[in-house]
Amino acid sequence: MSDAAPGKSPLTRLPDGTVKQIGPLTGTRVWTVPGRAHRPIEMMRDEPRALARGEETGLCAFCEDRYLETTPEKARLVGADYAELQRVPASRLFETTAEFRRFGNLFEIVSAEYWRENHGFRQPGSVVAWARDYLAEPAGREHIEHLAAVRAAASGAVQSLEEAALDLVGGSHDVIVARRHVVDGAKTDDELVSSGVLTPREHAEYFAFTARSLDDIARSQPHAAYVAVFQNWLLPAGASFEHLHKQLVAIDEHGPQVDHELRLLAGDHELYQHAIADLAVEKGLVVAANDGAVAFAGVGHRYPAFEVYSRSRANLPHEHSPAEIRAVSDLVHALHTVTGVHVPTNEEWHYSPPGAPWPMPWRIVLKWRISNPAGFEGVTKVYVNTIDPWELRRRAVADLTRLRLEGRIAEGIRVGDECRPEDARLRYAD
Ligand SMILES: [Zn+2]
Repeated sequence: MSDAAPGKSPLTRLPDGTVKQIGPLTGTRVWTVPGRAHRPIEMMRDEPRALARGEETGLCAFCEDRYLETTPEKARLVGADYAELQRVPASRLFETTAEFRRFGNLFEIVSAEYWRENHGFRQPGSVVAWARDYLAEPAGREHIEHLAAVRAAASGAVQSLEEAALDLVGGSHDVIVARRHVVDGAKTDDELVSSGVLTPREHAEYFAFTARSLDDIARSQPHAAYVAVFQNWLLPAGASFEHLHKQLVAIDEHGPQVDHELRLLAGDHELYQHAIADLAVEKGLVVAANDGAVAFAGVGHRYPAFEVYSRSRANLPHEHSPAEIRAVSDLVHALHTVTGVHVPTNEEWHYSPPGAPWPMPWRIVLKWRISNPAGFEGVTKVYVNTIDPWELRRRAVADLTRLRLEGRIAEGIRVGDECRPEDARLRYAD
């Protein structure tokens, strides 16, 4: 039994063209009123600024000339085969170029202190030894001194260098950063590299690295009930830098939305098949598919949103085979390419919490943050979304067809009406 009220369709178009939606998993009420769908979706931006020679690799603290402005690095991928190097010491950070790198967030949402003080968490010997070895090197010591001073200035709390080092290497809120801030050879600062600018291969490496990191963080923090995985793109979507990155945050509860879905699942183990996939087929909202994943125009979101579902029998991202992860990555990449560089987005990963009593599929929601809920929404709890799911699907199918001809999306993607009925058959509960 989904959240759509009994007897009410989750998606209806009224005679005047107004589209009313009810989120099948959330109950969120959304209206799209006619005549607003063709407004431009790209964010208004300051005049592009010309870049000086060499400036493109040092635009922000995530850029490759500034490795020492972020915390000690947990892992990086290097070279044409994306080989993984772990715990590169400060003195060797500039010996290779990281295609992607992972390190602790300097300003954590859930801090190392939270786990220590509230859960009595003590770092394992291997992490204590890493912090000690990092400090033993002059370059490492200088790096930690600098970061500890930045943190102390922000928080007002002073730690010993040893404590600071341990917190900086042993946190459970990580950032994964892509190499490029702007495209190679960029002339202006608005030639940004979004997920859709990566090649399908680069995006797949980024995705698989994120799935492995999720597993690593969950194992490293035994008190975590969940690891939230998300990507905020551009300032209106919550990003601090216009430099592509994902975040992974361990938390000690999985939050009310997962609780709610588990309650719905208790009544129907095939909830996602019935409430999402079957609805998408019935309403004509299947956007694209490949042999391992399917993308829908989502119903009942506050913002225009695509939903990409894995069609694997596996539930957790890191339990998917490399080919299955690649399938999900290819569709998410294609939808980022459709979205364009200058549209603020949130990419959210949803998956089964450890110990969940019912199977849940891995799914990715990609939201276009092109409107700002305001007083009307506050008063009514009815959200006005400027693009309804049918229009979102129409745009995406047209763009994917063009992008495929231009060779900008992965091979093996069926678009729109090319999708087959079995493409919308989820197997997470088989
Ligand atoms: Zn940057």
